[in-house]
Amino acid sequence: MAVDSKEEMKRTIGLSIKGAAFKGQDFVCFVYNDKIRPQFKHEIFHLISYEEWGYTTSRLLDEGAATFCDNECFYTNPIYTINAYLLKKKMLYALNDLVYNFDTVNAKNDVIAYLQSAGIVKYLYESYGVDKLKLLWLQGFDKFQAIYGFSLAQLDKDWKKHIATTPIPKDFDWNKLNTQGCG
Ligand SMILES: [Zn+2]
Repeated sequence: MAVDSKEEMKRTIGLSIKGAAFKGQDFVCFVYNDKIRPQFKHEIFHLISYEEWGYTTSRLLDEGAATFCDNECFYTNPIYTINAYLLKKKMLYALNDLVYNFDTVNAKNDVIAYLQSAGIVKYLYESYGVDKLKLLWLQGFDKFQAIYGFSLAQLDKDWKKHIATTPIPKDFDWNKLNTQGCG
């Protein structure tokens, strides 16, 4: 379903947001106008992942994987480019907060919460494969060490070391990203 504006979204589903996917129903709802890029892949990923893998209790994985699936955000290689910027500016959230208090940090800044989560999912997926990621999806971060064989603290060190090697574009515009999200 497409609606014209966030206001119409609010009247339709009760939330003033750009898009929403409904668990257990084949239904997504988008704002569709010439100012907002509809993030079809993000919302449809939610539906497909729930159907194929089942639900996850991890908000980091749920939103991070959907954002990584969309994989569009102004720049080439957007997920790592943006995380490299956030790392350099010391704007990333503590990994423990993102894992255990996602909605608290998301309420502070949803652009950072979603994109940092996407960076972690991309790193886990590309470095350790889909099978481990699926186990984490189903079993949650309490089982992280058992699934991956190292600690969350080690993950935090390793993925930051990895993204620090990604060049940040000269025209990087945090203000645009922070006010518009990914388009
Ligand atoms: Zn989402």
